[in-house]
Amino acid sequence: MSHASPPVRRLADWDHDRLSRLAAEHGTPLYVLDLDRVAANYERFASAFPDAHVMYAAKAHTGHAVLSKLLETGADIECAAWGELQRAIDAGADPDTLQYTAVNPPDRDLDYAVDLAEDHPGLTITGGARDTFDRLEARGYDGRVAIRINPGIGTGHHEKVATGKDAKFGIPYDEVPGLADEIGERFDLVGIHAHAGSGVLHDDLDDHCRAIAKVAEMGRTVEQSHDLAFVDFGGGFGVPYREDEDPLDMQVVGERVSEAVGDLDAQVKLEPGRYVVADAECILTEVNTVKETPAATVVGVDASLATLIRPAMFGSYHPIRNVSAPDRGAEPVSVGGPCCTSADVFCTDRPVARPEREDLLAIGNAGAYGYELANQFHSQPRPAEVAIEDDDARVVRERETLADVTRVER
Ligand SMILES: *Cc1c(COP(=O)(O)O)cnc(C)c1O
Repeated sequence: MSHASPPVRRLADWDHDRLSRLAAEHGTPLYVLDLDRVAANYERFASAFPDAHVMYAAKAHTGHAVLSKLLETGADIECAAWGELQRAIDAGADPDTLQYTAVNPPDRDLDYAVDLAEDHPGLTITGGARDTFDRLEARGYDGRVAIRINPGIGTGHHEKVATGKDAKFGIPYDEVPGLADEIGERFDLVGIHAHAGSGVLHDDLDDHCRAIAKVAEMGRTVEQSHDLAFVDFGGGFGVPYREDEDPLDMQVVGERVSEAVGDLDAQVKLEPGRYVVADAECILTEVNTVKETPAATVVGVDASLATLIRPAMFGSYHPIRNVSAPDRGAEPVSVGGPCCTSADVFCTDRPVARPEREDLLAIGNAGAYGYELANQFHSQPRPAEVAIEDDDARVVRERETLADVTRVER
């Protein structure tokens, strides 16, 4: 299978006239989601792992449009909360194909999953603590489970997402064989699961493959006494956020991963989230202020950390482009939003084609953990989201109003 879709989409590759028209029609800030790109990213990923079962990790972007497009494309869906399960089902997922990864699951989440499994015994519940299994048993559950293991090697772009090293996630490595025997008596043990990090790019690939090899090794150990259907290596595959970074060559990654996995009787599963959606969405925002100060040229925009929190939360770099005048001379600027905190900046001292008031800027790679982490800080209604598919564009999330912000207040 060959796919012509390029391995990366930069901001410059978006049709600027189209973006300008969408901003004029729907206002700013605006999320613009390219569903064809979502499908192409999934297909490129899946074709690099022809023998693996690839699930989309919903939490990167749980929008109905994304989930239904991916289901149509042939993806299964991995969920980490009851709301994600419900949304996957609403988007058309067969509950028997879903996988629910329980991390310190609230009662409500376990109740929902156990109820669902009663009618849909194909659902798999992954536990990362003895308590989770005990609480499942207390609910009368004896169906399909996987054990999440902590590989003890963390990888990724930021310590907050390098979960492998983080004791919050998974069963300590050496306890897994013993627990597997115990769990195998009480449930239908079908898999071993690990998710070792996020944002893995070139430099992290060696560590990531070491973690994968360690998980595969555990898979082989557990396979000796249990009939495992799968070993799941999680997600974590990164995309280039900086314009000069190269994308992963997925064919090479596919070979590296399968080398790290080695021989397994069980099927290999993977759960990319970010990789599938990151470069399929950008944010459009209008310049409202240009202020020269001795320290910097400050460019004020109508998007904020409430629109996209990754720069404030993780120090993440997101590309920024002046869509109105990409060819204007570039000048170092700091771009920030209307929130009263110094964390509300998208960049400092970065060359951007000299912004003027009312210019339209695009912030790139906003598809993963973008709208998903949007919030209403400063009583800001969340932005609208427009999805592009073929030659069509349609609103898939309406712009919130102030009434939405205050709706739950009594
Ligand atoms: C978040 C998550 C993923 C996806 O991670 P990405 O870095 O977005 O690929 C996969 N599996 C599990 C269990 C997760 O929690």
